[in-house]
Amino acid sequence: MIVCFVTVFVVTLILAVHQYFLVRARELDSRSHRLDIQVTALDTAISNNKQQLQFLRSSAERLLADRTVQLDPNPGASLQAVLQAQDERVWTLQVRDVNAPIRGIGTRQLAATPGLHRDEPTFLEDLRVAQLMSRLLAVQFELETGVERAVYVSRTGIVVAYPAVDDDETVRLLKNFGSSRLLQLVNRNSPDYDVTFDPIRGRKDPTGPRLLFGTPVTSTNLVRGIIFFVIPQRVVQDYLRTNTAADETHALIDPSGTPIATTGSTFPVNDENWLKTLPSQWNGLSAATLFQTRSGMLSAGQGFLLFRKLDTADLVLTSYVSAQTVFLSVVRLTSALFAGIWLLMAFLLWSTLFVVDRLLSMQLALNTRLRELSLVDPLTGLANRRRLKEEFDVLTRRRNVERHVALLMIDIDHFKRVNDVWGHAAGDEALKHLAHVTKIAVRPGDLTARLGGEEFCVLLPDTTGDDAARIAERVRKAIAGHACVLQEATVPRTAPGREISFTISIGVAEMVADNRPDLDALIALADLRLYAAKAAGRNRVVAGEFTQS
Ligand code: GH3
Ligand code: MG
Ligand code: MG
Repeated sequence: MIVCFVTVFVVTLILAVHQYFLVRARELDSRSHRLDIQVTALDTAISNNKQQLQFLRSSAERLLADRTVQLDPNPGASLQAVLQAQDERVWTLQVRDVNAPIRGIGTRQLAATPGLHRDEPTFLEDLRVAQLMSRLLAVQFELETGVERAVYVSRTGIVVAYPAVDDDETVRLLKNFGSSRLLQLVNRNSPDYDVTFDPIRGRKDPTGPRLLFGTPVTSTNLVRGIIFFVIPQRVVQDYLRTNTAADETHALIDPSGTPIATTGSTFPVNDENWLKTLPSQWNGLSAATLFQTRSGMLSAGQGFLLFRKLDTADLVLTSYVSAQTVFLSVVRLTSALFAGIWLLMAFLLWSTLFVVDRLLSMQLALNTRLRELSLVDPLTGLANRRRLKEEFDVLTRRRNVERHVALLMIDIDHFKRVNDVWGHAAGDEALKHLAHVTKIAVRPGDLTARLGGEEFCVLLPDTTGDDAARIAERVRKAIAGHACVLQEATVPRTAPGREISFTISIGVAEMVADNRPDLDALIALADLRLYAAKAAGRNRVVAGEFTQS
């Protein structure tokens, strides 16, 4: 039974472990799915920005290619106004009904800014582009959520920004543009010629870092200007934070491992490889591996790293979760199931043990009862022959000690007549009466038994032949002196009365004196003497040569 329970326990344990790994795989799957959703959302946002920039760029380039289109009803006046302000550091040209003013730097400032220069035809064309931008940027800006500012900067020193920028910012933007790598690019096939994503600007800015999406405006294979969107890094940061479970860490990293946004409480201001902030088991992991593999799950030591590369930018979104967190999630998911299984097991164990215990005690009681029955005579309640044998064996087991064991063989005289006169039922009552009287007449340690029919015997431990003969005489007298009184209901009509008086004859043998070491021989000798008693006239005791009547 214990083996059965241990087996059941082991099987349940194996099932539980199996279940744990299944649920863990499901848990990691669902976390990976959440990461996929974030990547899709980021991809969509970046792709939207790119499309808007491409639209602005193609609008600007079309305008540059088609010189017949005129946005300003009075370009002469606008040019005049700008040229009049050429001595100022920064000039402004307000465009009607639009909040994105056209701003620029004067000739002296322009000369002091490397990379920028101006000739009149080019400046006039750029002014047309600026007028288009001052209308479009505001509209595009309204469409884009998360964009802080949309800006157009030209090589001829014009800045259109929505919302507007101040003088210093105008000068700074032009300076940055004049020294930018973009101005050297003339090959239209270069991927940088498309939309560039520059996530690390202004890390030391007190208002936080910015992400820049930019695209160059070109004409005749020359970069004429740049359009870009400024997105505060905290927008991406907030997106990640609000969409990530509290027990995992997400980070958007570039190919050098530098974080663009993380779910951490503070954004790391240095350009450190974010992967180095993971536990030491991950030291060997490089950002390049993640960018090459593009998507998957790595596990090391006590944690899991899920990662997906964005389609629209050279960025990878990673999700780190410790093994302990996964374990707790799994336990939370399965605790009800486990508790149910273990409770059921405990209940089954208890109920089975209860049933088995009941069955065993019933079996034991039954066995005891059966054994008792197998040793008792059902009519008189006396010991039967088997019991007599057992008792005799117990008395004679230690053979080295010589013990006197005597035996009385008792037989009712003319019992057939009793049956004939009083009926068989009354005969049975007489047998019970004999049993009762004999038991009282002998000592408590003596064993009275019924061997069968109306033959009884008494086993007398530690009793010599003489003593046995005296006890036999006591029994004989007791029977002879006490008639069996029948119940009224059992007295047959033909019977002479209620009382049956009868006598018995007894043969006595003793183990040591008669040298009869085994029971059968002792019984045979006692039986022989019983017949001698019968032959001598009945109602008497025969013990050895000594006969009493
Ligand atoms: P005696 O022993 O004096 O020679 O004469 P007896 O009539 O007693 O003869 P015996 O001992 O041979 O008789 C045995 C009779 O006992 C036979 C049977 O009718 C009766 N007897 C045996 N077993 C039972 C019993 O269980 N119930 C009753 N009522 N009678 C029994
Ligand atoms: Mg007999
Ligand atoms: Mg008899």
